[in-house]
Amino acid sequence: MIITDVEAVILKQPSIELIGDGSQDTVVILVHTDEGITGIGEVDSNPYVVKAIIESPASHMACIGLRDIIVGEDAFDVEKIWLKMYEKSIYYGRRSVAIHAMSGIDMAIWDAIGKKTGLPVSKLLGGTFRTKIKAYCSILMPDNEADIQALVDRHMVKGYQGLKFGWGAFGQDYKKDVQLVRWARKALGDDKILLTDIGMLWKDVKMAVSTAREFEKEDVFWIEEPFGPDDLESYKYLRDRVNVHISGGEEVGTLYEFDELLSRGCVDVVQPDLSRCGGLTVARKLTDMARMHKVTIVPHAFKTNILMAATLQYIAALPDAWYLEFCEQDTPLRQTLTNPVFAVDNEGFVEISQKPGLGIDLDWDVFEYYRVK
Ligand SMILES: [Mg+2]
Repeated sequence: MIITDVEAVILKQPSIELIGDGSQDTVVILVHTDEGITGIGEVDSNPYVVKAIIESPASHMACIGLRDIIVGEDAFDVEKIWLKMYEKSIYYGRRSVAIHAMSGIDMAIWDAIGKKTGLPVSKLLGGTFRTKIKAYCSILMPDNEADIQALVDRHMVKGYQGLKFGWGAFGQDYKKDVQLVRWARKALGDDKILLTDIGMLWKDVKMAVSTAREFEKEDVFWIEEPFGPDDLESYKYLRDRVNVHISGGEEVGTLYEFDELLSRGCVDVVQPDLSRCGGLTVARKLTDMARMHKVTIVPHAFKTNILMAATLQYIAALPDAWYLEFCEQDTPLRQTLTNPVFAVDNEGFVEISQKPGLGIDLDWDVFEYYRVK
């Protein structure tokens, strides 16, 4: 199944707000093959930079655009393709957005292999440990009690057993963060799981420890990305001093970076984003690495249903899995880009597709409507 072309198509809602919501736009990756099969992927990064990295003509042998690197390759050689992309983009690549772009291509290649073989990607990754997974509701943190209560009332009737408030009002002021968590716990009641995401904004480790201890009193299950992704010393400092789980890793790409995050004991929960970390090819190796470090994998996913579909397949193949992150943003791309649209059942679970590949099709009318021409 020879790769004949790679497209990077930017989709975007009419206006973009500068908030922590990656579902306002996306870049869909289409990997075409000579079998007439097209694999679908997406990338959660700057879509315009991703598109340039894929479509760029070659400069010299270590500076080739990703499309030119992989056209002509057999899609089944997915490991070989990954390494070839890494090595032939190495002057401008190695980390960050080149790895993001590779992730979307890798996702699409796994989808194409699944479609060709008639198998769900979870089977290709080593086997299906589960056919459904408990979801947590993932939404942005409002700045007042009434809005927190309204969001809890709106979403928790759907069956969720847990909810994460992230970004938004968090991280501006340590005392306010404690207040926000108290309001959230009051709104949720005592029996639901409360997760928090500081959006990388805490800077002072001592204040972080005292704030996290207040979070502990409200039975917060995890504190996600309290610090920036390069501030590993602060992660370790905080993790060693509190009983709340510390999570992070959505900014991390390549096994080199995951190795450093886990070897230095920075997190209890690692959160690879399959559209940024290097794709399923990297994430499936992280599965073993995380088990060796006694760290649980809960992938990050705050994009369209393409990423959710890939995330579900990955979760199906994890020996240990706690949750699916279920982005509840109302953006059109989040809600309408694929068929089927995933839903939470009344016990808080999402079913994992057993169809070939990622188990989704694009809604091509939606795709064309939001396509940046
Ligand atoms: Mg996060």
